[in-house]
Amino acid sequence: MKVFKLPDSRLPRILGRECLKCNVFWAKNWDSLIDRYGIAINKSEDVQLWSRDFPKALEVVADKYHEQFMSKALVSERHQQYRELRTSPRIVAQILGSGPIWVSKWLFKLRGDILALRSRPYEKEEQTCPMCSANAIEDAFHFTAQCTAYTVVRRKFLGASVICREEYMYLLERAEVSLARYCRVAWQLHVRAIAEYNL
Ligand SMILES: [Zn+2]
Repeated sequence: MKVFKLPDSRLPRILGRECLKCNVFWAKNWDSLIDRYGIAINKSEDVQLWSRDFPKALEVVADKYHEQFMSKALVSERHQQYRELRTSPRIVAQILGSGPIWVSKWLFKLRGDILALRSRPYEKEEQTCPMCSANAIEDAFHFTAQCTAYTVVRRKFLGASVICREEYMYLLERAEVSLARYCRVAWQLHVRAIAEYNL
């Protein structure tokens, strides 16, 4: 879009015009987006039209992408946590706007159950938690809500020694910043113990 703000004689603008005319590169990619998501984009050199249509098109793509992702996630056999999360498409924006990038990073990892813990539903290796004696699978729920190795941290950041599944899901749904604060400190303990005791 920026190239069409340049004077007619500038090379990037000439190339942009040729891309539109021959329907190649990014101009062609717009067609596939239009086909795939049914978005309304007027492909022209008129910057005002792009400015008018682009935000709406982006919104449509985000909504459809979220819809497709959710339909896959909700039938996932290996990631049960996805099935329990009922989120709005705006949750990503909410998480990204919830503070520094480290907060978003922890919230995404937790919600996706993609912390580097032992739980790997697709493998047959040992998956029980090495940090406590509960003999429980070390997944995001156990790490965040149940493991006794982090009781002090949990009490400090989440206000309880142990958290039930219902409360845990509630915090995840709301993408509570306190979860990120908890993770940051508990993870340091986790990493230190694994290295020090070769767990
Ligand atoms: Zn544990």
